[in-house]
Amino acid sequence: MERIRPNSQILVRESRQTVNEEYQAQISRWIAAKVRKLVLEMIKGSVEYQYKRIWEYCAKIKKTHDGSTMEVMFTPFRELGGNPKFMRIYCCLGSMKKGFKDDCRPIIGLDGCHLKGTYKRQLLTAIATDPNNGWWPIALGDIEREATGLDRASAEVLPNCEHRYCVQHMYQNFKKKHTGLPLKNRLWNIANCITEELYNKAMAELKDFDNWTYQWMKNAPAPQHWCKAFFPSHTKSDMLVKGPRGAQFAVDMEKRNCTCRLWEISGIPCCHAIAAILLKNEDPREYLNVCYSRGLFLNLYRNVLQPISGEDHWPPINNA
Ligand SMILES: [Zn+2]
Repeated sequence: MERIRPNSQILVRESRQTVNEEYQAQISRWIAAKVRKLVLEMIKGSVEYQYKRIWEYCAKIKKTHDGSTMEVMFTPFRELGGNPKFMRIYCCLGSMKKGFKDDCRPIIGLDGCHLKGTYKRQLLTAIATDPNNGWWPIALGDIEREATGLDRASAEVLPNCEHRYCVQHMYQNFKKKHTGLPLKNRLWNIANCITEELYNKAMAELKDFDNWTYQWMKNAPAPQHWCKAFFPSHTKSDMLVKGPRGAQFAVDMEKRNCTCRLWEISGIPCCHAIAAILLKNEDPREYLNVCYSRGLFLNLYRNVLQPISGEDHWPPINNA
């Protein structure tokens, strides 16, 4: 059953081969077809049963987790008493929502992956970062695979938000045409530039090195979306930031920034700031942004998820 579960399109020939490999036994075509039909019914049946109980599940979650949002979307009822078809579920647990609002920095990571079960669907996730830069899940959605348009949706729902792209994802597209370690390093170095001057310099160097790759970068999304030099400082997110070495920078202890911008962007004193702080005989940890504080961390993890009881104890729902 576990071999068939991810591949519901399995052919009779393949299922005979599976039995042969796993049990060193030969079975007839007729037996294989009969077993395959039975197994598919069992797998689909259990998944279908779970989708059918989704209303009760949502009701139970709302009861055990205050402030949760559970939204289920079905295709419209075509006729009275007709069988509605499940489309999407959105799930945001109250404690995760509260933790994000109270104690996390204002930055949300969005991602999606394809589900390889009986039903080919997509799982979407929204996550934040905790004070220790660990992941804090906020919400998830299970949607049909054909659904697209994350860019359009975020522009509509969050019009005033700054929008960053994941450089790792960008690199996955980049390397299809531009292979090799020197180009990979250049892409990451450009993304890690923390001033506009450094960005322009790195781009000019790339043009001399490989004009074709330079043109690709020019046609890629604007650097405002993926290069540190253009990030504003209020999110205090230092993901993937690396500082340049060997240059001169000015530290302002009062304003808690440095002309290398690293302190401003990340909320963590850069090496130049640490040198200045130590010179004053002070503790650099005192200069950390409050978003990294132990108190905030402990506060965030007071938001716990309650275990929920088995399906026999879910509240009955009248679907009509
Ligand atoms: Zn600095």
